[in-house]
Amino acid sequence: MTTLLIQNAYIVTMDDRQREIPAGGLFIRDGFIEQVSATSELPSTADEVLDLKDHLVLPGLVNTHHHFYQSLTRAVPAAQDANLFNWLTTLYPLWARMNPEDIFTSAQTALAELALSGCTTAADHLYLFPNGSRLDDAIAAAQEVGLRIQASRGSMSLGESKGGLPPDAVVDSEDSILRDSQRVIEQYHDARPGAMVQIVLAPCSPFSVTTDLMKQSAQLARYYGVHLHTHLAETEDEEQFCLQQFGHRPVGYMQEVDWVGDDVWFAHAVWVNDEEIKVFAKHHCGVAHCPTSNMRLASGIAPVTAYRAAGVNVGLGVDGSASNDGSHLLAEVRNAMLVARVKEGITGYSLSNDPNRTLMTAREALALGTRGGAAVLGRHDVGSLERGKCADFCAINLNRMGFTGMHDPVAAIVFGQPVNVDYTVVAGKFIVKEGHLVTVDARQVAEKHNKAAKRLLN
Ligand SMILES: [Zn+2]
Repeated sequence: MTTLLIQNAYIVTMDDRQREIPAGGLFIRDGFIEQVSATSELPSTADEVLDLKDHLVLPGLVNTHHHFYQSLTRAVPAAQDANLFNWLTTLYPLWARMNPEDIFTSAQTALAELALSGCTTAADHLYLFPNGSRLDDAIAAAQEVGLRIQASRGSMSLGESKGGLPPDAVVDSEDSILRDSQRVIEQYHDARPGAMVQIVLAPCSPFSVTTDLMKQSAQLARYYGVHLHTHLAETEDEEQFCLQQFGHRPVGYMQEVDWVGDDVWFAHAVWVNDEEIKVFAKHHCGVAHCPTSNMRLASGIAPVTAYRAAGVNVGLGVDGSASNDGSHLLAEVRNAMLVARVKEGITGYSLSNDPNRTLMTAREALALGTRGGAAVLGRHDVGSLERGKCADFCAINLNRMGFTGMHDPVAAIVFGQPVNVDYTVVAGKFIVKEGHLVTVDARQVAEKHNKAAKRLLN
């Protein structure tokens, strides 16, 4: 048994009562939280004691959508100023050159960046497997860095010759996809509270996967009780594609292939109407909101305020690192708050006419990045600091130039410029300590990554 005691911090619990505890602390035993309260009410000793005076302590941030491998193709000149479909067709041939070592290295980089931004649980969506790469390569990186991973076994089966967007060289046969999906579920999926690895089945998008694979993936996932994930309603181009190819709008198509339920979450979900928001709410589908990527690719602004009003679970995702081009989850929290306000502005709504209507607050944005993400992933063991939950948290020292003069410690980290965290802890173990990664050598990872990235483009 090992215990860890955190003292004298400003604790943001994100529990149902939204409790905040100044001069608070955590008592942790064997990777789980045993007590959250004022420091004076906690035990006074433990195997390790950390005084976090002047620090804000938050539940570990939860990333609900990412493609770790894309960290190799950030800011590629030809894809810098493209919308989604042009961006994809530019990058597919580069991604086709990746090998297993590239997948591992890029995942290390993405996970390291996530950890430095306060993330403790991350969904990764790997949907092409060139040159012998496997989902195992990304999982191995998560095990080394020490973050929890929702490893999404992605897939593409609808190549150009069959009317899809990706070149035939990067799509796989449905038989091999389903066989490998079953393999990784049986080998890795852990359904228990505190799981470090869970598997998700994640056919890539309506324009890269056949209807049959969508249906079969859903059947397989439900047989094993794993969750389903895909890109949906990201752009207007996709909406047109779905109408022409399937005779449905994207959400209607999902209903057609049995992709609705509390075991399904969609990335983006920007282009939806009021009826479709009700469909998500009725069936408890989750949404991974990726504001930076949506701005970067000019995809649009997801109706997050409407989703939340309808009771739809919404979490945040940094999205693949070629459309962000970073993996900073705290920055995503800030962008979620700001872009929600932009949407209020462009719908021409005047707040002064309705005292009941408010702008998205810093605390609401943080809730999306913590408990919201946990709900989207179906992880009831993370997302808030409460007795019995996983001991996953991050801590930020508020004594910095950028926070000088801030009158609210919680709002400071969202309204202020995004910073790297000082501590990230997963299951009671330090991933980041005093601002530095402790599980991997950041410089070595970056060097290896840069070499691989250069090779892909030459
Ligand atoms: Zn994506």
